[in-house]
Amino acid sequence: MSRAGLTAADAGLVACHACGLVMPAGSAHDGCRRCRAPVHQRKPDSLQRTTALVLAAATLYIPANVFPIMTVVSFGKGQSDTILSGVVAFIDAGMYPLAMLVLFASIIVPMLKLVGLTFLLISVHRRSRWRPRDRTVLYRVVEYVGRWSMIDVFVISLLAALVQLGSIATIVPGIGATSFAAVVVITMFAAASFDPRLIWDVMEEES
Ligand SMILES: [Zn+2]
Repeated sequence: MSRAGLTAADAGLVACHACGLVMPAGSAHDGCRRCRAPVHQRKPDSLQRTTALVLAAATLYIPANVFPIMTVVSFGKGQSDTILSGVVAFIDAGMYPLAMLVLFASIIVPMLKLVGLTFLLISVHRRSRWRPRDRTVLYRVVEYVGRWSMIDVFVISLLAALVQLGSIATIVPGIGATSFAAVVVITMFAAASFDPRLIWDVMEEES
């Protein structure tokens, strides 16, 4: 038995991710006995999958910030904005809360999520025993905070509505917006495929 007490793995039990049924590991080869969902002791290939998704999201983070997220066409003239130039434009216009919101949701949060996941991946890969509880909290924060990136989608649609109400302008979404949406979605999958129990598995082993 581990120092932390009896774990499901110690007892030879697994829990279904879908319906929560706990069953002996040996009886779960064909999936959950109740709902037939695949049952695993740990999320399969968690490190490999999370690493691949983090790399993909980090790569797309570049076009998301370099290319325009939208072009506002007004009186035949078009003006393109990247996320950062949009933030600067909000500051110039004195719209500080909106500037902070976009800066936070679109630039800082995705970057912190990717850095946090990378840190967790490296620490698990190196079988680190350093502050497992804090790392679990970090994982929970990364997973929770991801949904706030979606605020950006609201901001863009709000802006589109405002501009279109006000004048004869049209908003054309740019490749930056597509990349940004991909970063948000892929990072969510990355956070979901990471198994925080991996942090604790090494702690259960006798040193
Ligand atoms: Zn089930």
